[in-house]
Amino acid sequence: MAHLGSAILWHETLGPRTPGERARGDITADVVIVGGGYTGLWTAYQLTQSDPGIEVVVLDANDVAFGASGRNGGFAMTLLDLNLDRLARNWGDAAAAHAHRAVARSVQEIVDTVADESLACDLEATGLLRVATNEAQLRRIERDRQTAERLGLDGFQQLDATGTRQLLDSPSYLGGLLEDACAIVNPAKLAVGLAEVARARGVRLYEGSPVLDLDGEHGGVVATTPHARVHADTAVLATNAWAHRFPLARRSSLPLYTYVVVTEPLDDAQWDAIGWQGRQGVEDARNLVHYFRPTADGRILWGGTDVVYRYGGPISPRRDRHEPIRRRLEREFLATFPQLGQVRFTHHWGGPIAVSSRLVPRIGRFDRGRIHYAFSYSGHGVAPSHTAGRILRDRILDRDTDDTRVCFVDTPQTDFPPEPLSWIGGELSRRVLQRQDRRMDDGRETDGRDPLLLQALDRWG
Ligand SMILES: Cc1cc2nc3c(=O)[nH]c(=O)nc-3n(C[C@H](O)[C@H](O)[C@H](O)COP(=O)(O)OP(=O)(O)OC[C@H]3O[C@@H](n4cnc5c(N)ncnc54)[C@H](O)[C@@H]3O)c2cc1C
Repeated sequence: MAHLGSAILWHETLGPRTPGERARGDITADVVIVGGGYTGLWTAYQLTQSDPGIEVVVLDANDVAFGASGRNGGFAMTLLDLNLDRLARNWGDAAAAHAHRAVARSVQEIVDTVADESLACDLEATGLLRVATNEAQLRRIERDRQTAERLGLDGFQQLDATGTRQLLDSPSYLGGLLEDACAIVNPAKLAVGLAEVARARGVRLYEGSPVLDLDGEHGGVVATTPHARVHADTAVLATNAWAHRFPLARRSSLPLYTYVVVTEPLDDAQWDAIGWQGRQGVEDARNLVHYFRPTADGRILWGGTDVVYRYGGPISPRRDRHEPIRRRLEREFLATFPQLGQVRFTHHWGGPIAVSSRLVPRIGRFDRGRIHYAFSYSGHGVAPSHTAGRILRDRILDRDTDDTRVCFVDTPQTDFPPEPLSWIGGELSRRVLQRQDRRMDDGRETDGRDPLLLQALDRWG
């Protein structure tokens, strides 16, 4: 499972795995799913749950833990868009509440499935703590709480500085918002566990089988790999950051990289120095957030601070490390927790995520409905990919449900322009967001409203 350039803690916890079988020859199925991360696996899981007789083939170019699903921070949380307040402003209160509830239901269903299927993935349903480290972030948190209240959403509790520091002690914390609906997992164990359950249900899962072409054929579809042709009635494109490589989805999302570092295991005195008895997942309220969580073996995973879009959107194991971001992450960790000044970092990696122009998932169908798709979770797809699996299941089985009416299903989103415009736009947006983060940090900006560029992009998207 070692991938060039990366030292992914989660992969080390998997132990040795036999490489999955490759697809060969002519294969037929009812549904062929392209991509074996969470989107593909949850879709296969939900389909076989609802229709045990359905024949499902999953094709992955690499292995099920290779993509973001096997290397993420492991927060199964409700976040859509950049925050709840923005979601409601962009989509309206009713649609935002509906979408939030659909993903909150997924958080609970992930917890339940892990228990029901005995998936050993170190899941801890400990909630999400959103912390504010400056006045502007406090305003943002307050607006999110007010929005949750107005939308009638339960499970949010606002905390003052003392209450926040009782949960996790950093001298930089001025307040926080605790949300019940969040669980932390070992993401790679979850992906591998889901793959095993899918296989046990009869799903044919092929790894090392990149789909080179996905096309219509006699009222159905055919997915072509180097050694196989899979014929099916319906296909699902579940390749997230790689979606733009398929002509049908070209320019519908941008692949970005996000990075993490992980500490060595902390000793008891170090844990005592920061508290964190509740072991919540934590994010701050910057534009380019820090996200961090404890691991089952006593380390802290700390990620975020920046995202990287490279010209043309290449995705390669050569991009798995980013030295300037690694150094910045380590520096910012130690500034947040000066009590942990002696701690060493043992792991660093990153991975590709996809963003859409409206910063919410893209779920819909191409090719007169024969090819369904779900991608672009903007870096928080652990729970929404489960929601997408429910939605795709319902669409494939021709069901009109509460889920299939979630606001971002079938909603047109503006495609990204060709290069160099995407690169210029991406870089400009990143700099504007970073500049606002700096201005909020040094107190020049205390309100934390979206910068004008983001407001303009909302109108464009
Ligand atoms: C470092 C990092 C931290 C993150 N932290 C969090 C977090 O804490 N919480 C959260 O909610 N989200 C987080 N995310 C995002 C989250 O991991 C993703 O949104 C989610 O895993 C997307 O799942 P997916 O199945 O759609 O895509 P992926 O997991 O990327 O799976 C796509 C699959 O498609 C396969 N594929 C690509 N091309 C082809 C092809 N041509 N043929 C066949 N297969 C193909 C790939 O091999 C891959 O396995 C993080 C992401 C990263 C990188």
